[in-house]
Amino acid sequence: MKVAGEPSFRDSVDLMFNRAVRLMDLSPGLEEKIRVCNSTYTVRFGVRLRGKIETFTGYRSVHSEHMEPVKGGIRYAMAVNQDEVEALAALMTYKCALVEAPFGGSKGGLCIDPRQWDDHELEQITRRFAYELIKRDLIHPAQNVPAPDMGTGEREMAWIADQYARMNTTDINAKACVTGKPPHAGGIQGRVEATGRGVQYALREFFRHREDVAMARLSGGLEGKRVIVQGLGNVGYHAAKFLSEEDGCKIVAVIERDGAILNDKGLDIEDLRQWMVGHQGLVAGYPGGTHVEGGAAVLEEPCDILIPAALEGVIHKENAPRIKAPLIIEAANGPITFGADEILRQKGVVIIPDMYANAGGVTVSYFEWVKNLSHIRFGRMQRRAEEARSRLLVEELERLSSDKGLGWSLADDFKERFLQGSDELALVRSGLDDTMRTAYQAMREVWHGRNDVEDLRVAAYLVSIGRVAAAYRSKGL
Ligand code: GLU
Repeated sequence: MKVAGEPSFRDSVDLMFNRAVRLMDLSPGLEEKIRVCNSTYTVRFGVRLRGKIETFTGYRSVHSEHMEPVKGGIRYAMAVNQDEVEALAALMTYKCALVEAPFGGSKGGLCIDPRQWDDHELEQITRRFAYELIKRDLIHPAQNVPAPDMGTGEREMAWIADQYARMNTTDINAKACVTGKPPHAGGIQGRVEATGRGVQYALREFFRHREDVAMARLSGGLEGKRVIVQGLGNVGYHAAKFLSEEDGCKIVAVIERDGAILNDKGLDIEDLRQWMVGHQGLVAGYPGGTHVEGGAAVLEEPCDILIPAALEGVIHKENAPRIKAPLIIEAANGPITFGADEILRQKGVVIIPDMYANAGGVTVSYFEWVKNLSHIRFGRMQRRAEEARSRLLVEELERLSSDKGLGWSLADDFKERFLQGSDELALVRSGLDDTMRTAYQAMREVWHGRNDVEDLRVAAYLVSIGRVAAAYRSKGL
């Protein structure tokens, strides 16, 4: 989305990059090499639908190949364009570097309104788009691995994986050509929830650092914090659900396409989502809160934490001065424009930047890719061995207690939990939690350790550009 009087999304990302790179000691040549987008492929293809040929335009952009494969989602939306795809590909480069997912950055998009087509038509369109990318190695387990993004999900990824397998019948690693597949088609447990889960883990980590919480003029933990969420899609829904059900946050407003739903006591997110499923994704009329038409104005309502989880450019120069949230976590990619970022910083708002905040998706994609290449489910070898060791300990404790007449007994629910070996979902969540904590700590070290670093976004760029630069240097560039 181009905001009037502001740079395009692509330029906005570059301006943020430039702000950070000024504080680094990179050669101008290397700086330029990292900033530019390596290539963008545009494809126009026809599909015979409803008795006539429909032409679609799609893109796959590769921002940086300092590590391969390159990684990033495929978006289905009418607003997809080259500028947007390139901005998103650049963000993928920085995101992967920040969370140490060993990939370069890429992104794809198709100009389409998925709501206008039925399942069978979407399958034909997706397979044809995938065919165009596969034959140019723009989908490939070792070179370019797409994933879901706005407007796509498990279903589309399964079609892409199957299309790749049909075209590469002897590739033993075919399943690793795309991530975000359903578990029955080579996917991994916990990928659907991953981005929202990552937002939750990011906030938990932020609130572990009292000093950082104080910078946002907040105190205490997540319990009771008032939260506004924009967008109840896959990311916003999971983030809001986990924060309210597990951390005691109050979701006081949800902003959607047709306005916002407010409830000062906190919304029941699962109930709201179920209601939306039955009402074409709309929120108007939902009985568990008050509906207001102008959703955008609700971004400006007072709250503790604002979670933009929809589109880019929703907080811009015009509305930024009126934003009241002291803490914003960018669950979407690029929701704050370069101009708005400056205004918010001057107001003292703490922004947890997109390349960190929404990196949970690509992190679990990384686990899925590794699972596909190793051809075995995580935990399959260890789970029962882990259980057996725990059982040994429990039995020994019980034996000691009865031999010595100590009268100890272990509570049943403790025993049950202690004896349980980790299954795939538990391991995925553990890996994601560790990733989000480690990446936050890398950012905050730079944020607090250097007095020329004002904010977490610049800190995030410094960490990731430093890593990309090191990769290029070790290649002899
Ligand atoms: N589309 C997601 C993102 O923007 C996920 C990418 C991936 O899993 O490769 O990060």
